[in-house]
Amino acid sequence: MLVVMKAQATPEQIQAVCEYIEQLGFRAHPLPGAQRTAIGITGNKSTVDRGNLESLSGVAEVIRVSKAYKLASRDVKEEDTVIRFPGTDAAIGGRNLAIVAGPCSIESRDQAFAIAEQVAASGAQFFRGGAFKPRTSPYAFQGLGLEALRIMAEIRDRYGLRIVTEAIDSESLALVAEWADVIQIGARNMQNFSLLKRAGRLRKPVLLKRGLSATLEEFLMAAEYVMSEGNYEVILCERGVRTFTDHSRNTLDLSIIPAVHHLSHLPILVDPSHATGKRESVLPMARAAVASGADGILVEVHHQPDKALSDGPQSIYPGQFATMMDEIQQIAPVVGRNLPRGIHIEAAAG
Ligand code: PEP
Ligand code: MN
Repeated sequence: MLVVMKAQATPEQIQAVCEYIEQLGFRAHPLPGAQRTAIGITGNKSTVDRGNLESLSGVAEVIRVSKAYKLASRDVKEEDTVIRFPGTDAAIGGRNLAIVAGPCSIESRDQAFAIAEQVAASGAQFFRGGAFKPRTSPYAFQGLGLEALRIMAEIRDRYGLRIVTEAIDSESLALVAEWADVIQIGARNMQNFSLLKRAGRLRKPVLLKRGLSATLEEFLMAAEYVMSEGNYEVILCERGVRTFTDHSRNTLDLSIIPAVHHLSHLPILVDPSHATGKRESVLPMARAAVASGADGILVEVHHQPDKALSDGPQSIYPGQFATMMDEIQQIAPVVGRNLPRGIHIEAAAG
């Protein structure tokens, strides 16, 4: 159920409607829009009596939301969600494209800085790097953990890049939330509902990757888990799904982009690295992703991919990343987008 407030409704009226909803044992989610505020109602009890709600002051109308996902749906929020990073001009969603670049794993301070320096020089605003790695083999490199988070915090200080890194369980979630700017939840954890709920209780953006075989509805329901706990800053990421294809690691499903934009207000990035598993396929798919309306790209970059401890074959060289940025910059205006180059940090107040 969705309560649409009148355009002139006061903050007190919005507050009173939220309190009324919560008194009934439901959860109220005030969602401010450009014209007016809507209040989403969630809960797994019975339905709310709309007659009483309609009679509260400031209420314009009460609408039943038929989709399984409510807060992630465009029915509840018409405008695109734009996630901002205080103190910077970086954003995910909206007209500007967001580029997240960096190695699969943080392997050492030298490796991370060598790559960060180059992706920053090419104009990325976000740096990625795994500290906790969800590896298929228990014998493969599992990540440097806290040490990697510390290295990435230093990179943020040095280059201004905002940090994106993955949490694989509740223990790493607490650490990632403390050190990073965006919490990545990986494909293998897309339906780890307790992890999603915990991430929902935090107030940090969550980058949610599509599960290996997840449908669009399952993907949006996973986002709904995070949002249902009050964290509305969810970024979706298409990273390919498992098919019978044997020429690439996964199959990049670009057709999910218009479908997501139709059904949801959440931004969606594309990861051409995990989607293809092959360096030579990354740039073509990045170009196609932007042309298809993606809100940005998440890409693996390594200065010495032959020595990488994970995902070397799909990591592009820094020079290729620079080319990718130039190409995306040219494609962006064709689809009404803009590629900002570099991040601007506001001087600290006082
Ligand atoms: C990653 O981004 O390094 C990663 C492990 O991605 P995914 O969860 O999409 O496999
Ligand atoms: Mn990887």
